[in-house]
Order: sequence, then structure tokens, then C-alpha cells
Amino acid sequence: MNNSVAKTYNRKNVSFSHGNGIYLYTADGDKYMDLAAGIAVNILGHSNEKLIEALKGQAEKLWHVSNLYNIEGQQKLAEKLTLSSFADKVFFCNSGAEAVECTIKAARRYHFNKGNNDKSKIITFKGSFHGRTLGTIAAANNSSHLEGFGLPLQGFINIERNNLDELKSSINDTIAAILIEPIQGEGGINTFDENFINEVSNIAKANDILILFDEVQCGMGRTGKLFAHEWFDVNPDVMALAKGLGGGFPIGACLMTDEVANALGPGTHGSTFGGNPLASAVGNCVMDIVNNNSFLAEVEEKGKIFNSKLNKLKAGSNLISEIRGLGLMIGIKFNIDSSIVANKLFEKNLLTVGAGDNVIRLLPPLNITKSEIDEVIDILDITLREI
Ligand SMILES: *Cc1c(COP(=O)(O)O)cnc(C)c1O
Repeated sequence: MNNSVAKTYNRKNVSFSHGNGIYLYTADGDKYMDLAAGIAVNILGHSNEKLIEALKGQAEKLWHVSNLYNIEGQQKLAEKLTLSSFADKVFFCNSGAEAVECTIKAARRYHFNKGNNDKSKIITFKGSFHGRTLGTIAAANNSSHLEGFGLPLQGFINIERNNLDELKSSINDTIAAILIEPIQGEGGINTFDENFINEVSNIAKANDILILFDEVQCGMGRTGKLFAHEWFDVNPDVMALAKGLGGGFPIGACLMTDEVANALGPGTHGSTFGGNPLASAVGNCVMDIVNNNSFLAEVEEKGKIFNSKLNKLKAGSNLISEIRGLGLMIGIKFNIDSSIVANKLFEKNLLTVGAGDNVIRLLPPLNITKSEIDEVIDILDITLREI
């Protein structure tokens, strides 16, 4: 135990010395199956050869230059992201919270640029998680994240998910944008009704309100589509990415239409490290692998296999109340305290992530194999029987 590290995390008493694919190893040789993947970050598993090669190759050439200069790898990555999405422009940063901050700033600035200074409020949804900066904790409005940190940033209206009446009654001339996490990760793998998302889009269009999607967790192939919103027939105006985009190297991105991006001219926003050569080299490699139809089709297929096997477990156990999610973004809701189950799974060397609503998340690397899925199911099965 190191007493010099801030105590902001409740850490398990384990540390890993290396990893390979879905497995993590301790210095003593203990082997763990990693269904947490750094919380949806290591989407290509640990020690991926191609990612290592991309990082090493760049490390020998150039680590960092300022965004005062053109960065070739960053331009390539921006091109890949815009060619495969609604977006025309990308702003790079280093984390999910920063990417969401950028969506908020971009939305406000877009209306400011049009002379609508009062159109600055943002509708957000209960159960969301958008990061830990002062702006993003105000957006998500989770009281336990706000407690003790003074006056929250103003201008957020936090409403219930899938409640069309509440949404409609919240619309007025001061609303700049609606910020949505299309599948809520930290909140417990909560989805939005298709009809609700369609209505959000209609209302937004009719009122010059921007749609901001936070795909920090559900994006980058996690659900079997490159971006989770592709499951809906709705495009955002701005979207935040991070987590999986770097496969373990820190990078965040804020994708925007030209209309929005035009409001963020020189000097309006910035980041020292955002999209630096190292991060961009890895991001490009991740995109090359993940943005591929057969790769994504496999994620979708493996998600279905996982889901049906979990539902079989549920049928044979009164401990599980619900299987949630899409693709390889999976939530298991329990009838008993989910942390009891998570601790038992940890004792059996299976790493999972907790979430709100008494849910355990399974966020495997997207290149998990079918036999590894069977291995997970076996461990779950044995653990549930023992409890
Ligand atoms: C993790 C997460 C964030 C915050 O990302 P950080 O890199 O920790 O700042 C924001 N939004 C969602 C949906 C997330 O899952």
C-alpha cells in the first residue's frame, strides 16, 4: 500500500505487472480475467501488438509538439473520425470529462455566435455520468459528486430519462442543447426508448436546440456499431469520445458539425496535450482496427451470444433480476447487493465494474473470443451457485 496517493479511490489490494489480451497478471503469477478493461478503455485487450507497434514507432520519432503547429497524425485521426460520422471537425483533448466540457462550451458558443446570448441552458438526464470537472458534475447533477464542492456551475436542467412530458415542459428560448449519454454506463447500463430519442431530435430541430451525445463509454464499437447513436435514427450536432479511442493511451475528442465548429474560432478553446503525436498515433491504430464492418459485426454477434448465455443464467438463478445493455456493454442487475457478487467474482479472479442501480458491468475488450465468453459464463455460474 502506498500512502502517498490521494485516497479518492477505494482500491482492491492487488496490482498487475503485465497483461495479455483479456488477461492480467500479478508479479506473483496470479492470472485475472479482465472484464473491466480499464472501464471500457482497453478495447483491444492488453499488450495489443499493433498498438504497441504504433506507439513505439511514434515514440522514436516525435512525442509532443504544441497545437500551435500542424500535427499530421492528429489530422489523419480527425479525417477518419469525420469520414465515419456525422461530424465535420474534431477538437482533441485528453479525457472524457474534457471532451464533454467541449460539447458544453461548443453549444453555448454556437448560440452566442448567432447573437442568442441567453440561449445557454442545457437539458441533462438523471442517472448520467459526464466526468468529474466542475462543469460535468453540474451537468450530471449526481448529489454525491457535487457534495462539498461549492456552488455548481449554472445552466443545467436535469430531468428524467424517457419522460417526454417533462422534456416538453422544459423547452423554452433559453435552452441551448440537450446532453445525452445514449446508454448510461456508470448509472447502471440504462437505455433510452427509441421513440424518446426521436422526439428529442424533433424537438431540438424545431427549436434550434443542439443535440450533444456523450459516447465516452458507449462509443468506439462497444455496442456493435462504431457509435451507439447509430442504433437510433438520430445524429447529434456534437459528440464526446474518449475511453476506447486510445485503447489505453489517454485521448479525448469532441466531434462537431461545421455549423457548431465555426463558432469555435482561434483562441476560443484549447488544450496543451490534446491530440499530441503519441496519442494520435495510437488513436489512428485503434480506429483502423475498430472501424471495420466485420470487426463490428463480430462485436454485435458476440454481444448476442453473451446476452443469451446470461439470460440462461438468469433463468436458473433467483439472484439476477435483469440483463441489460447492447453489444459488449453489459449490465447484470441483482436482487442481492451486487457488491457481494462483485467481491466473490474478484476472489475467483474475474474483474468487473460496479455501476448504479445495483448493477455489475461487464465491459470486455471487443476482441474477446467466444471461448473466453464461455469461461466468463462458467465463473459466473459457479459463483452464483456458491452464493
Ligand atoms: C468515463 C466517462 C466520462 C469521463 O471520462 P474521464 O476520462 O474519466 O474524464 C464521461 N462520460 C462518460 C459517459 C463516461 O463513461
